[in-house]
Parts: sequence; structure tokens; C-alpha cells
Amino acid sequence: SALCLRKRTFSSMPPVTPKSFDYLVIGGGSGGIASARRAAEFGVSVGLIESSRLGGTCVNVGCVPKKVMFLTAMHSEYLHDQPDYGFDVEKKGFSWSMVKQKRDAYIKRLNDIYFGNLERSKVEYIKGRAKFTDNRCLEVDGQLYTGKHIMIAAGGRPIMPDIPGSELGITSDGFFELEELPKKTAVVGAGYIAVELAGILNDLGSDVSLFIRKQQALRNFDCMVSENVTETIQASGITLVTGSVSKSLVKSGDGTMTYETTAGVFSGFDCVIWAVGRTPNSDILDLDKVGVKTDKAGNILVDEYQNTDAPGIYALGDICGRALLTPVAIRAGRMLAHRLFDNKPDLKMNYNLIATVVFSHPPIGTIGLTEAEAEAKYKRENLKIYQSTFNNMYFALTERKERTKMKLICAGPEEKVVGLHMQGMGVDEMLQGFSVAITMGATKKDFDATVAIHPTSGEELVTMR
Ligand code: FAD
Ligand code: NDP
Repeated sequence: SALCLRKRTFSSMPPVTPKSFDYLVIGGGSGGIASARRAAEFGVSVGLIESSRLGGTCVNVGCVPKKVMFLTAMHSEYLHDQPDYGFDVEKKGFSWSMVKQKRDAYIKRLNDIYFGNLERSKVEYIKGRAKFTDNRCLEVDGQLYTGKHIMIAAGGRPIMPDIPGSELGITSDGFFELEELPKKTAVVGAGYIAVELAGILNDLGSDVSLFIRKQQALRNFDCMVSENVTETIQASGITLVTGSVSKSLVKSGDGTMTYETTAGVFSGFDCVIWAVGRTPNSDILDLDKVGVKTDKAGNILVDEYQNTDAPGIYALGDICGRALLTPVAIRAGRMLAHRLFDNKPDLKMNYNLIATVVFSHPPIGTIGLTEAEAEAKYKRENLKIYQSTFNNMYFALTERKERTKMKLICAGPEEKVVGLHMQGMGVDEMLQGFSVAITMGATKKDFDATVAIHPTSGEELVTMR
């Protein structure tokens, strides 16, 4: 802090004494809040800097509003099927604006709860945008702050393709601001966000086209999943345009947009959503002033204990570019708090075996190695793969059919389960329990020794042959 003081004195500005904490956190999102509150439990002084709404991406423009919209879309599917179950109902209309209002109010309540939680935990909330000034100081609105330990959990933001007219489109952030259901939507991208938003909009009645550069969506997932999700997207009525690289987006005289790609020209869109990835918020922090290094994409480089290249400065969550998931940021944040302030020097986040769900229609659940990864790690001859395709009993009475697919990847003579992949109704809620077993090192024999619950979809996983 002496250094901070000196620099301010040399410049023409009046000296400002930095306020010092034991632990100073940048970012009030999933990782920052979890880490700050856990650290405060150990009696240390904690400050948390947040420039926007508390809760970060997940609460404001990510998991939470997305899941509300996924659930809304599920109602549309159920309504569609209800006549097949004998109910005299028909879809008469849908009020997007009503759902949006209720969703916004719910998120506002969560923002307030997060604020209250920080107060209760005695974490000092500093509102504003932080950037490093020099040795281990942060400036927020002209005030300087420092910490014995400083942690960066500043997350990321969506990117847009570098093509003419890209500013006419929106990103996932803009999706959550839409006041009405778009009539005709182009969703561009092939990852989690593209697949989820295309599915939601399609279920709610927008005429959706999904533009992907290659032949399949979710290419990095297990081959069964990428193949199946690509098929289910098409079966759901979404127009899938493969091999389409963006060229330009223009506004036509009637106010709609025309999207030119290498696969052709497509017109009449009142909404274009770019879902082509995210970039870390590391470029606005002046990291070079403190020697925190990033890779070419701007992800902060950390070791397995979340240490950056600068002593006493740590980073975690999306800004590190690895497993961009809320529970990962939360866990890494809590582990770090225990390591620094609870005398647990060896605690760290385990980045292997992270269970994840894509809230597509139907949802996808996956944990562990894909078949390709397992083959590279164990060799083909040491793997045994079990697969199952079946109709969930929900569809026994419905005209609409949707199959469930499951795959277990087992390695070695003991057939340790090293990968589990599935897509189908209900797998989103099924995965967590199985992830406990797999984290404990379960083998196929352990799965087989488990009594099935009948009639469920989950029983398939303990009866595979
Ligand atoms: P964030 O939650 O992004 O928090 C970073 C915070 O830092 C932000 O509040 C930002 O305002 C603040 N900040 C940035 N720079 C500064 C600065 N200079 N000064 C002060 N404050 C700053 N994950 C799941 O697990 N499940 C899901 O279903 C899921 N759905 C998603 C859907 C969408 C559309 C998106 C975009 C993401 C989704 N995610 C999901 C990912 C999840 O939201 C992120 O992995 C998670 O929020 C990362 O937490 P974080 O703490 O690293 O960053
Ligand atoms: P992703 O990295 O998952 O996907 C982006 C995809 O878009 C790429 O995989 C790529 O696929 C494609 N793409 C990239 N550039 C272009 C381009 N110029 N034109 C067309 N397509 C392009 O990013 P998302 O933004 O979807 O999500 C970010 C992260 O947030 C996810 O990885 C996930 O960790 C997290 N998240 C988690 C959710 C959950 O848990 N349910 C939900 C939403 C997000 P290809 O190379 O095949 O073209």
C-alpha cells in the first residue's frame, strides 16, 4: 500500500490512502460471492467489487433466466401433449411479456437476496468497475483498494462475429431483454447457448433457423450426443443450416434482416442471435500492471491452486476459460477461501469429472470422458461401451415421440465407469445422483448391483447389458 500512496503523490492528483482488506475480490458473480462469503466465515476482512448487478452472469443473464425460459418452453410441450392424455385443452395464446415481467421480478428478488447475504456475511460491497493501478492496488471511481490476497472472478461476455452488420443482431444478453417473442429467429452457433435458445424459441412458437459452421451441433460432446442432438433439433421443426459461415447481416426495407452465409442467403428475420462463444473480461483490468498473465484468448493463466503469475493474486471461474459453469466457479472460490484462510493448504478444485447439463429439448446430461477421449486415454481394447435407446413411457400415449439415448463408457478389467452421456426427457434431474457414484469410482458391477426403480428412465442405467 505504500507503493500505491507514492504513485498517487507523484501524479498531480491528491494522495489517496488505499483501503486494505485481508481478501479483496473482483466480481460479484458465482465465483466471487461464494469465495468472499466463505472467506468471511473465517474472520478475515473481505471486500467485494462489482460493477453491475450482484449475482453475475448466472443470475442476471445466464443459468437462472435461461432455466425459467426452459421451464416455460416445457409447458408448451406439455400443453401440446395434453389432449393425448384426455384433456380438452388447446393452446390459445402465450404472453412472453408476462413471463418476462415475472422473470425480471424474480431476478430482482435474487439480486436483493445476494445483497442481504453480503451484508449478513460482513463482506464490504464496493460498487463500481475495478482496474489495477500499480503494485497490488485497485482503483474504483477514484478510490484505491488493496488486499493481502486479491482474487479475480470478473467472468466474461458474449462475442459477435466480425462481419458487416453484426451489430444488428443480439447476443444471449439481448435475448433476456426481448419484450416479445420474435416471429422469425436466426440463431447462429453450435454450442450450449445456441442449442438452448433455439430450442426455447422454437417451443414457444418462433420460426427458428439454427446456423452452424460444421455438420453437427455440440461437436465437442460425445459422438452419440452430437449426432442425436443434431437429429432432435431437426425433428423439432427447427431449420438447421449446416456448413454456414457468416458473411453479412443487412436490414431490408420492410425492417426484417437478411443473413448471408456461405450456405446461402436467408431473409425475413426479425431477430438474429449470435451464440458464437464468449470472451473473458480480462482486457479491462490492466492486468499487465501487476504481472498477471493471460493466454492469447485473454484467459487468465492459473495453476491448479488458482494462483496467477503474480504472488498473492488469484483468478477463477469463467475468466480462466476452463469449464465455464457456475458450480465450477463456486467450488473453486470456496476451495481457495479454505486454502488461504482456513489452514487447508492442499485444497483445490478437481477439474476432472464435472457433470453438466445442456437444457436442450430434450435435455442432455453428461459426465466424464467422451468415447474419443476414453479411447485416447485407455486404448480401444480396454474399453467396454454400453448403449441404450428407448422411448420414455411419457410418450406411450402421445402422438409426439421422443427417444432417450444413453451411453456408459467403462475402462479396464474392473469396468470402471469413466463416462456417462445421455439425452432424453428427465436426464437433467437424473445425472446428479449418478455423478456421485462415478465420482466415488463406481464400476459397471456397482451399477448392476443397484436395484432398479420401475418404471423410470433412470433404471435403464442400472440394467444395461
Ligand atoms: P460471472 O458470474 O460472470 O461474474 C463476474 C462478475 O464480475 C460480473 O457480475 C461482472 O459484472 C463483474 N465484473 C467484471 N469486470 C469487472 C470489473 N472490472 N470490476 C468490477 N466487477 C467486474 N452455467 C451453469 O452451470 N448452468 C447453466 O445452466 C448455465 N447457463 C448459462 C446460460 C447463459 C446464457 C450463459 C451466458 C451462461 C450460462 N452458464 C451456466 C455459465 C455461468 O453463468 C458462468 O459459468 C458463471 O456465471 C461464471 O461465474 P464467474 O464468477 O466466473 O463470472
Ligand atoms: P460454446 O463455446 O459452448 O459454443 C460456441 C460455439 O459456437 C463453438 O463451439 C463453435 O462451434 C461455434 N462458433 C464459434 N465461432 C463461430 C462463428 N464465428 N460462427 C458460427 N459458429 C461459431 O459457447 P457458448 O457461448 O454457447 O457458451 C459459453 C459457455 O457457457 C459454454 O461453453 C458453457 O460452459 C457455458 N454455458 C453453460 C450452460 C449450461 O450449463 N447449461 C448453458 C450456456 C452456457 P463449431 O466450432 O462447431 O462451429
